[in-house]
Amino acid sequence: MSTSLNPKHTVAELKQLRALIGDENGAQRVAFTKTWLAAREWLRKKVEGLPLEIHNDAAGNTWFTLPGQSEKCLLIGGHMDSVPNGGWLDGCLNVLAGVEILRRINSQYHGKPPVTVRLVDWADEEGARFGKSLFGSSACSGNLDMNEARGLKDKDGITLPDALKNVGVDFERVKDSGKELKNAAAYLELHIEQGPVLLDLDLPLGAVLGTFGVERHAITFHGQAAHSGSTPMNRRKDAFLAAAKMSPEIYRIAERSHGGVCTIGSCTTKPGIVTSVVAECRITLDQRHLDTAALAKMLQEAKDASEKFAKEGNVKVSWERLWQIAPRPFNDELIALCDEAIRETCGKVHRLPSGPLHDAAEVAAAGVPTVMMFVQSLHGISHNKIEDTKEEHLELCVTAFDKLAEKAMKWIQQK
Ligand SMILES: [Zn+2]
Repeated sequence: MSTSLNPKHTVAELKQLRALIGDENGAQRVAFTKTWLAAREWLRKKVEGLPLEIHNDAAGNTWFTLPGQSEKCLLIGGHMDSVPNGGWLDGCLNVLAGVEILRRINSQYHGKPPVTVRLVDWADEEGARFGKSLFGSSACSGNLDMNEARGLKDKDGITLPDALKNVGVDFERVKDSGKELKNAAAYLELHIEQGPVLLDLDLPLGAVLGTFGVERHAITFHGQAAHSGSTPMNRRKDAFLAAAKMSPEIYRIAERSHGGVCTIGSCTTKPGIVTSVVAECRITLDQRHLDTAALAKMLQEAKDASEKFAKEGNVKVSWERLWQIAPRPFNDELIALCDEAIRETCGKVHRLPSGPLHDAAEVAAAGVPTVMMFVQSLHGISHNKIEDTKEEHLELCVTAFDKLAEKAMKWIQQK
């Protein structure tokens, strides 16, 4: 079907980009910096010769549009920005696979595909500089919290609005980018898996079901400080003992949830000295699940357990929500097409949720039917210079993602 798709082309371009912008510590494409602008400039050169309309939207996202017979749009997304010392594939694999797919579609349909095809390079997916990820896509979806974002500063004290001004973006207008989604009929995103699931299954590709919802809380147990020598064991109100019981409990909660994960990421004690029973112990709990009801159940079970352990230890417990985001399930029909595309390319497929958030989560939240495809990550690691994928798997993912794009175009036409 594809008259000219050349997956080797994508691999070669990824290597070019690595040589141009990366250094011995990894990818250096932090958003709103000179190297990011250079990477974007390089990207524009890559599409010269294609009959594309190219512009930056109000949030600094770059859109490459191949107009079709219908105004309905197939969107393909990725991000050229990286974390400092990042991997060579995160974000730009999606973009460069998208470029190769545009070339194929342009040649197969002689410059006029049945539906309009748009590639978007989202601005600042990583949030590496200002600590807030998904900037461009959340501005576009309308979910960006303007008050919070207005106050964000980098480590040198430069505010996000000032950094944006430097690249020609007016912070107060960023949500105008939402109009880009006007005729969006489907959104596709390819990404390197940022975990080891496909690696452990020895599979090159997977269809992504959606991104996890997250509940993030601080749990504080309140006991009583007492001398470590003079206080008998049976008279203690030990806040640490109650908190510590939460650790094995969250593993049981996660196991019962069928697919969820729980993490106690930090623990601090007061007074925090070697000669005192712990008066106050604060732990943080991060819970994630793809299903809203299951996530709520995990949270309730953790609350119930904390009450039980507090009672057993004669201490009190309080909870404080730090952050929360709802699960963002992807479109069932597009997941099925993604499955098909992978099966036709390499025989076997696995469906998996995404723990990390991606721009796709924002596009899905804006109501656009969305799906993602993951390619296996060697070492199961990303945001690290050792991030890597076998070259044969890179070629397979471009082929499968192209098949998905073709199927999605047909799907849009039938709608
Ligand atoms: Zn990414």
